[in-house]
Amino acid sequence: MAREPLRDGHGRAIGDLRVSVTDRCNFRCQYCMPAEGLPWLEREAILHFEEIERLVALLGSMGVHDIRLTGGEPLVRREFPKLVARLAALEDVHDLSVTTNGFLLERDAAALVEAGVDRVNVSIDSLQRDRFYEMTRRDALPQVLRGLEALGAHPQVHPIKVNAVALRDFTEDEAIPFADFARRHPYEVRFIEFMPLDGDHAWSRDQVLTGDELRAIIHARWPLEPEPREPHATARVFRFADGQGRIGFINPVSEPFCGDCNRIRLTADGTLRTCLFSLNETDLRGPLRAGASDDDLEQILRDAVWRKELKHHVNDPGFVQPTRTMSAIGG
Ligand code: SAM
Ligand code: SF4
Repeated sequence: MAREPLRDGHGRAIGDLRVSVTDRCNFRCQYCMPAEGLPWLEREAILHFEEIERLVALLGSMGVHDIRLTGGEPLVRREFPKLVARLAALEDVHDLSVTTNGFLLERDAAALVEAGVDRVNVSIDSLQRDRFYEMTRRDALPQVLRGLEALGAHPQVHPIKVNAVALRDFTEDEAIPFADFARRHPYEVRFIEFMPLDGDHAWSRDQVLTGDELRAIIHARWPLEPEPREPHATARVFRFADGQGRIGFINPVSEPFCGDCNRIRLTADGTLRTCLFSLNETDLRGPLRAGASDDDLEQILRDAVWRKELKHHVNDPGFVQPTRTMSAIGG
């Protein structure tokens, strides 16, 4: 049953949902999780597949057609491809994608494709094994690259994006190797500015290496030309002037793109977040498990989305980092 489109109080139509399917992860990236991990959610606290499916279907009927599954590390959730298959079968899901660290992709790529995934983003912060280890605290680069290759064997999954978090005094040396990688492979590489969502709460502005700085490094070697910005796009995409590939920059800190943000997020324990940096969230698991009807849930969703933040305040004095960190929100 089609319902009224979901809109926030600033007139933005919501079309994109990120679902965190687990808060657990097999990596410990410096910019995301403390070395010792975080206290994991109890199993019962986590939404069951049926519960996720019900919320995705309901939101789909309200115009939320783009669904990205993330975490934590989504591929560590048991039977994850089964969830993908259930969501891919929903009429109102038009684009189903996954963000993964790639460690289990060699094992799961074929199952995910068979389940109906449309697109996959793989996070890789360095193309050098020792530096990858330094950043993720796991010696896993060869395994991740094998996963990427396994995925590449399925041309129906397209485009494949490779995301690297950009940190000052680290990523400068990765710019040219990643640009070269983007030129030689059919992957779109994107650099993401470091955001204050780290598990150690150690973010500071001077650790942010901006997309513009990285772009200048690459442009000096291989000139870049801007591609037109698509609506709701987070990345500024450039093509290499000689026609060999593309590269993108996601600049939430230096160049916020809140104006046409059409996203909401569902955490693994069933709360709705209307911004990465929200200080308030809305419980959906309670009402779901208490027997709420779809109409009840629709009202809760509409009320929460109506209050969606106009913009984030990372650049304002007095910014407060949310308690939940990136892995517990679903990036
Ligand atoms: N584990 C999966 C992965 O790493 O791709 C999915 C979840 S992870 C939280 C999603 C994305 O958020 C990754 O690309 C990761 O690099 C990015 N990320 C994590 N912490 C971040 C931070 N503090 N600032 C910017 N990006 C961050
Ligand atoms: Fe895990 Fe992804 Fe966070 Fe790295 S960024 S610790 S892979 S959730």
